[in-house]
Amino acid sequence: MNKRFDLIVVGAGPAGSSCAERAAELGLLVAVFEKAVFPRSKPCAGGLTSRALGLLGPSVNSIIHYNFRTSEFSVGPRVTVTWTGRDTTVATTSRKELDQYLAERAIRAGARVEFGAAVDSVTDAGERVEIVVGSRTLSAPHLVAADGVRGSIRGMVGMPPLGLSAAAYARVFPETSSALDPFLDRVIIDARVRSGGYGWIFPKRDHLNVGVCGRAALGLDYIRDVDRFIEQRGLSSWRVEGRFARPTPAEAGPGSLAKGRILVVGDAAGLADPVTGEGISHSIASGRLAAESIRQALDSGDEASTIYRRRAVAEILPVINHSKQLGGFLHALGPGPLSAGLRIPGMAALLESWMPRLGHASEGGRLTIDTKGDRR
Ligand SMILES: Cc1cc2nc3c(=O)[nH]c(=O)nc-3n(C[C@H](O)[C@H](O)[C@H](O)COP(=O)(O)OP(=O)(O)OC[C@H]3O[C@@H](n4cnc5c(N)ncnc54)[C@H](O)[C@@H]3O)c2cc1C
Repeated sequence: MNKRFDLIVVGAGPAGSSCAERAAELGLLVAVFEKAVFPRSKPCAGGLTSRALGLLGPSVNSIIHYNFRTSEFSVGPRVTVTWTGRDTTVATTSRKELDQYLAERAIRAGARVEFGAAVDSVTDAGERVEIVVGSRTLSAPHLVAADGVRGSIRGMVGMPPLGLSAAAYARVFPETSSALDPFLDRVIIDARVRSGGYGWIFPKRDHLNVGVCGRAALGLDYIRDVDRFIEQRGLSSWRVEGRFARPTPAEAGPGSLAKGRILVVGDAAGLADPVTGEGISHSIASGRLAAESIRQALDSGDEASTIYRRRAVAEILPVINHSKQLGGFLHALGPGPLSAGLRIPGMAALLESWMPRLGHASEGGRLTIDTKGDRR
């Protein structure tokens, strides 16, 4: 790879590949460097929200394990809220398949993707950004840092470190595939598992992804919460394979988005939902936005970082901040008062009309509140 590129992208996760695909579509010469060799797995629950599905379009169906219209939220003592959307609200896949699919999209659009190529250093040299990959030095007028929550490019170019929270999960396999059947009509979200966070159960082809996310920094307590959740849900006799705990972004703001000719996207920019931990849709959206901003900058002579910052503040941060405010409100309320509030007659109809405004649900869904017991 010694051509002159318009754009270098570091990382081929959802943010990097989406950026590269969009940049190539817009006529840019783009090179992606990814340190891993694909296909590779990545610690993640592999849940695609309706927002992510909408961004990816119908071709993503080739890698979907299950589509769910129903999400079940256990929110307090004996209170379960069930939302059934008109269309899919959450789909599940594996990150091995998703990241391979996204990288192939970028390659098909014309991006050059090099796997097994770790970027060792990045320097903003005024008119160009220089990178070192092994024994090679390359440069381009713009660089997109899509190197994830633990990426090192922020540090290399003097950006402050990200605030972090965390998530953990285990893969839980049944003895017979029919044992999965009772789980295949919904995804389960259980807010009782961890204060300020929640537990999830996402069905995959041959197992359940059982996990917990929270606001605190990474610690062994996350793994303990996953084990406790597995036990509470009666899954202790299933085969538990691989427990993974990883940091997640806790904070995003205009200051984390760009520096000079370097635009930062996805987890590396802190662009994940600080309450739900959902990051895939924001990675895709921010990656594409960065590509469009660079195209616009090359055409207009304006700075790409200014365009990207302005658009991300207008189009992505409001979604993240809205979720943060709602999560903060529910956390401050606490499970007791929240459960009491949900028992008020007429609450189901009120919440049903609010759901589409929360961004995860389309119009025309049905919400029920069960206050008699839970399905645990
Ligand atoms: C336990 C857990 C569960 C989650 N579940 C969900 C979920 O169900 N749904 C959801 O929407 N989000 C979920 N998330 C969040 C989601 O995983 C992230 O938001 C998403 O992966 C961010 O994508 P990204 O492209 O920004 O970064 P990443 O996916 O982390 O990709 C970064 C890429 O950069 C590469 N890289 C890093 N450094 C270099 C370098 N120096 N040179 C070259 N390449 C480099 C890495 O190898 C990697 O491939 C979860 C997170 C965790 C931890």
